[in-house]
Amino acid sequence: MSKKIYDVAIIGAGVVGTAIARELSKHNISIAVLDAHSDVGDGTSKANTAILHTGFDMVPGSLESKLVARGYHLLRDYARETGIAIEELGALLVAWSQEEHDNLAKLQAKAVENGYKDSVIISAADVYAREPHLGPGALGALYVPGEWIIDPWTPIVAFATQAKLNGADILLGTAVIGVTIGAHNTLHTTNGDVEAHHVINAAGLYSDEIDGVFGVKDFTVIPRRGELMVFDKLSRTLISHIILPVPSSMGKGVLVSPTVFGNIMLGPTAQNLEDKTDSGSSEDGMKFLREKGSKIAPELLDEEITAIYAGLRASTEHSDFQIRLHENKYITVGGIRSTGLTASMAIAEHVKELLVNSGLSLGAERALPAITMPNLGEAFTRPYQDEKAIADKSGYGEIICHCERATRQEVLDALESPLPPTTLGGLGRRTRAGLGRCQGFYCHSELRKLLEKK
Ligand SMILES: Cc1cc2nc3c(=O)[nH]c(=O)nc-3n(C[C@H](O)[C@H](O)[C@H](O)COP(=O)(O)OP(=O)(O)OC[C@H]3O[C@@H](n4cnc5c(N)ncnc54)[C@H](O)[C@@H]3O)c2cc1C
Repeated sequence: MSKKIYDVAIIGAGVVGTAIARELSKHNISIAVLDAHSDVGDGTSKANTAILHTGFDMVPGSLESKLVARGYHLLRDYARETGIAIEELGALLVAWSQEEHDNLAKLQAKAVENGYKDSVIISAADVYAREPHLGPGALGALYVPGEWIIDPWTPIVAFATQAKLNGADILLGTAVIGVTIGAHNTLHTTNGDVEAHHVINAAGLYSDEIDGVFGVKDFTVIPRRGELMVFDKLSRTLISHIILPVPSSMGKGVLVSPTVFGNIMLGPTAQNLEDKTDSGSSEDGMKFLREKGSKIAPELLDEEITAIYAGLRASTEHSDFQIRLHENKYITVGGIRSTGLTASMAIAEHVKELLVNSGLSLGAERALPAITMPNLGEAFTRPYQDEKAIADKSGYGEIICHCERATRQEVLDALESPLPPTTLGGLGRRTRAGLGRCQGFYCHSELRKLLEKK
């Protein structure tokens, strides 16, 4: 029997790879998505600050500026359509020195250049009226009402689920280790060979190494670690906007922001590393964040910390996204550094255009299966609060994780979903179970039992 040759193979099932898979699965073509990990979204995409960026502070004219602006609208609409939690908080870009204050007008002008016209400069009095718990010394702020917060995990599961329901094969635990380029591409993986006409490299931190396998050398990924602190839910009333610093060349700087899960986060740091696996937290990073936090919102530091985590941005020597069509029907989607969650759906559209340019005939678009994702947002009704859901299935009334108020039925739903989790981490990203103040001390053994039973 001859082996299946996929029309397209996508290496990487992060937010970018799964968004591409979803976009392509609108067409009647065969698609494989390969990831070394045992779950989707288990790389950089699981550890970010979850801001839906307007793109107001991008480099005007860059590909990133274009795709973030477009991706913002696409993801916003998609979240509303599928029930993914979003909160329309708005951001305050706070000036703490005269120099930063002088810069606000330039940032506002840059926002307009990026197509974002709604930002306004507000006085110190306005800043404190909006955010009474900020530390002393704020001189004013640029208010950017369109910057919102989003559940960062559910979009990935939603993208992959729709792609899978429309026929894509999601091949997890499948690391690409080599390629043979011939009449078509043969990807050598830890799970045997996968053959495909077109290959898309969405391998995040490893996109330069996959490029190397294809004989391409356009950039080097420099892992840039971002460490974050997550404060207990009791701190949530302290801050009601995303509090941003005036940006520097190392990125967006340290922010304080509510999360849709009902916490406050402080971070991220920005430290270039050599090791692409070093996503641990450091003493220096925590010290740095405490210093920054004590200036921005001193009362926050009296609150308890629920979790600390770190993510690695796939930065490169270039400031823009590195998305290129190469020979051999091979496309690189690299350098998706700090805005990949927001830009993901627009990146997918852009890659689709490149695929067409490389000779792939897509045919007509067909509908994607409609899906409704579980709401993980604290601002919206959760199953344990929903009498109708509980009357329908009593498991929604049985709380299994008391810190996050995740119920047994939500866990069962996740385990029975088209793309079930295989680890406690994956289960947590689908239900919030085990991610709260006790970090699974009380519920992990029960969750593990359910996971193993499945
Ligand atoms: C601290 C931090 C804060 C951020 N904040 C925001 C934010 O607020 N808003 C926003 O929009 N963006 C934010 N981002 C950026 C965003 O998280 C990333 O741009 C995005 O997650 C990148 O997704 P990806 O799919 O390209 O990479 P990944 O999620 O890393 O996916 C790549 C996948 O490729 C797989 N892979 C790699 N090599 C191989 C191989 N050889 N074979 C098979 N599979 C392979 C990996 O296992 C991985 O799952 C932030 C990032 C960080 C680190």
